Amino acid sequence: MADIKQFDTKEGIREEVKSLKRSGKRVGFVPTMGAMHEGHLSLMRLAREHADEVVVSIYVNPTQFGPDEDFEAYPRRIQTDIEKCENEGVYAVFTPTDKEMYLPERYLSIKIDEMADYMCGAHREGHFEGVLLIVNKLFNVVQPDVAAFGQKDIQQYALIHRMVREFDHDVELLMGPIKRADDGLALSSRNSYLTDEQRVQAPSLYRALGYVKKQIEDGVHQPNLLIGHQRDELEAKDFEIDYFGVYDFNTLKPVDTLEEGKTYTLAIAAYLGSTRLIDNMLIEL
Ligand code: AMP
Repeated sequence: MADIKQFDTKEGIREEVKSLKRSGKRVGFVPTMGAMHEGHLSLMRLAREHADEVVVSIYVNPTQFGPDEDFEAYPRRIQTDIEKCENEGVYAVFTPTDKEMYLPERYLSIKIDEMADYMCGAHREGHFEGVLLIVNKLFNVVQPDVAAFGQKDIQQYALIHRMVREFDHDVELLMGPIKRADDGLALSSRNSYLTDEQRVQAPSLYRALGYVKKQIEDGVHQPNLLIGHQRDELEAKDFEIDYFGVYDFNTLKPVDTLEEGKTYTLAIAAYLGSTRLIDNMLIEL
């Protein structure tokens, strides 16, 4: 296996990808914030299935964190991450500094209408504007043929999908399924914040989603009462819920009554102590 290449500059990675493409290779891309787990690695494998070489970026993007969020505390394990990428046969990692990624002053931004009014967008002001800004920049820098994102961050995927269409990015998108621990908890870099006791509680979110999904599939097509009960039970277990509901798969608008033949996203976000957990399941009726 060839040694993995590491680039800290935009010019370095851009030239490398250009030369790969000139030699006829199709380039896959997986943007990450590092502290990698099986979810990240599964996206590298997915990208690999659709490309000849895979590039991974590792960058904790400041513009997607709110002033009271965990930017400083976010786990940073760059050397271990690079080793994990190397073991997955990743061709190159892009590990820029903030100074490399952003100009000192910024006069432009990406504004989101409606699609950020629900789910995480309603609770994390400016978060998705920051996500779209960095993904837009990374697409322009790396110029991949195909890029993989996780269903775990389903609103992020929907917005990036929309951005690619509205801003004419020449990239194919892939969505990888949620990787979970054996007890069902969706893997997340933020799970490392959980205490042992919270870690035992955390899979309750997955179980609540699974229960509601099953009830809907068994014919409950007005699930709000049911979700209300599950919400009460979670709150009794010390979860503080940001949202828990069924959303249209494409527009992410909340839905009260479900129809046969359509796809929905059942999604939840909740705090356990100071750790914010998210999870979702797709429902195809
Ligand atoms: P992050 O490093 O948190 O920005 O995540 C990088 C990518 O990994 C994003 O596309 C996430 O949606 C994806 N991801 C995060 N957690 C999981 C998971 N448990 N399963 C699959 N993909 C994930």
